Amino acid sequence: MPFQSVPPARDKLLFTPGPLTTSATVKQAMLHDAGSWHYEFNGRVARLRQALLQLAGVSKEQGFECVLMQGSGTFGVEAVFASAIPRKGKVAVLSNGAYGERMIQMLQRLEIQHVALRTPENTPNEVDSLDKLLKEDPAISHVAMVHCETTTGILNPLEAIARSVNSRGRKFVVDAMSSFGAIPIDCAKLGIDFLISSANKCLEGVPGFSFVICRAQALSAMDRPARSLSMDLGDQLRGFEKNGQFRYTPPTHSILALEQALQELAGEGGILGRAKRYEANYVELVKGIEKLGFKCFLPPERRSYIITSFCFPDLKNFSFNPFYQKLSDRGFLIYPGKISQADTFRIGTIGRIFPADIQSLVAAIGMAMVELENAA
Ligand SMILES: *Cc1c(COP(=O)(O)O)cnc(C)c1O
Repeated sequence: MPFQSVPPARDKLLFTPGPLTTSATVKQAMLHDAGSWHYEFNGRVARLRQALLQLAGVSKEQGFECVLMQGSGTFGVEAVFASAIPRKGKVAVLSNGAYGERMIQMLQRLEIQHVALRTPENTPNEVDSLDKLLKEDPAISHVAMVHCETTTGILNPLEAIARSVNSRGRKFVVDAMSSFGAIPIDCAKLGIDFLISSANKCLEGVPGFSFVICRAQALSAMDRPARSLSMDLGDQLRGFEKNGQFRYTPPTHSILALEQALQELAGEGGILGRAKRYEANYVELVKGIEKLGFKCFLPPERRSYIITSFCFPDLKNFSFNPFYQKLSDRGFLIYPGKISQADTFRIGTIGRIFPADIQSLVAAIGMAMVELENAA
């Protein structure tokens, strides 16, 4: 018997940190086979790179470039470290979650000198300790931070860190994976040398590639060949400049999807318009779920409207899996916690979801809790 399956009437909605629910039209945009060497496709890649620069508030004339990199967001972050930290360079990493820790792991693997400035998962990056460190250690050439640490949803103080990094004359690497497209970020004003994000988060495209908005000058500071062949951002950029092509097989369908997704972003009123919807999602979520007796892990002033961590409820024998299953059965996928200090789960408010979807999710959570209470 050949494999057969009946597609569900509707995909489950994703309340996750990504990949996210996308629009039908973004999915439809992928129903084509693009020739990766063809001038039509290359033109689309060029326009996409241009559009991403614009979203970051910068231009080629200001010395910025947009380099697309195959793979998920992690590949983009690792490509920056592999391609842009000179042999004698040293990176200070601000970490308060899994993505900061992942940066540290990358630097270990790449054998790049580094120092970690950690704060607990519920505490933002500390500007004063960074500033002191930069003053005392002239060997530090780069500072790396995670804008929205998706581990908890905490928003780190990008502007204050930027002021310290800029005034101390260091290069600045920002993982804006889960914030780019939802929170305005002006790379020129903030003196960001490398900003990394990916197609499948707040831009509402599909997985397949990440991108780096970088100052061309900071990229060319690399003194020897990059530490990776396939993830060499400099070579990748030279490839785009030479013939408009990716050096190796491009994620053709994901490119077509992001092209459509950016039109939809513009149609929504750009980053500010999208921010409004995400914020409305977040407000609706917290209002509804607090009514059900759940508590947020972070105090309000530290939260983002991207993703929110909730503490396990006061229900005897509550565990994540049965709760998750009950929500999944009703068509909603939430996300487990990733925190070491507390039992939490996470709900994302990004992607093609609206306040009405949040209301449906909250109703499903209410029903799931009644069922779990009755079973307890
Ligand atoms: C999603 C994300 C990444 C990249 O994760 P991938 O699974 O490789 O796409 C990196 N940093 C942050 C803050 C993220 O939210």
